[in-house]
Amino acid sequence: MTTATLNIDHREVNKFNNLAARWWDRNGECKPLHDINPLRLDYISQYTDLKEKNIIDVGCGGGILSEGLAQRGATVTAIDMSEAALTVAKLHLFESNLQINYQQTTVEQWAEKHPQQYDVVTCMEMLEHVPNPASVILACSQLVKPEGKIFFSTLNRHWKSYLMAILGAEYVLQLLPKGTHDYAHFIKPAELAQWIRAADLELKHLTGMTYQPFSQTYHLTNDLSTNYLGYAIKSL
Ligand code: SAH
Repeated sequence: MTTATLNIDHREVNKFNNLAARWWDRNGECKPLHDINPLRLDYISQYTDLKEKNIIDVGCGGGILSEGLAQRGATVTAIDMSEAALTVAKLHLFESNLQINYQQTTVEQWAEKHPQQYDVVTCMEMLEHVPNPASVILACSQLVKPEGKIFFSTLNRHWKSYLMAILGAEYVLQLLPKGTHDYAHFIKPAELAQWIRAADLELKHLTGMTYQPFSQTYHLTNDLSTNYLGYAIKSL
């Protein structure tokens, strides 16, 4: 594959390069990722025991989820295309004293070299930033062992999501830099489900995640209209 044909939107990756230095600032632009982290780690732990599992975190950024997985006893490889985010992620290991194998690669390239090597794949808040999310899902499916689990989260292309994730989070509350999200790239649950099926995976569960601006906390909800997460299993 040449760089021109890689499944990367360089404008998107640059957004993350630009905010990388503030990735671990709990009150900075990545505050929403810090805030949802316990919720999504608990969700993952509910469906899989993380201890001693071989996990790959796809689109790991500065490593908020990757570190949480490692803290819970998993052996973690984490990949991203943002060089600056990976530098921050690696530096943060000196603070956390954890071990994580960080690599700059696309998931498609990594999957070619490491097929069926992982018990669990996580791919959170990443699909809405790539030109071809179906290709990312297919690569995740190639990475996981038979009967392994893949956890996804993304944003729904629904008017409520436009209100909450773009107008609310970027413009009114200014939780995120303006332009962080592009509504046209948001993904409907039915589209995600179709790509999951096409990648030889079985969708097991989906749940919504909702933000309460007053308590500044996130909760799981049946409402999939904004942020949602779920998991799929690789068939035998
Ligand atoms: N998954 C992390 C970070 C989400 S931010 C978390 O939830 O905490 C989205 C990440 O996707 C950014 O770090 C960005 O650099 C990465 N990304 C965007 N396009 C990518 C691509 N084509 N390949 C790999 N990573 C990509």
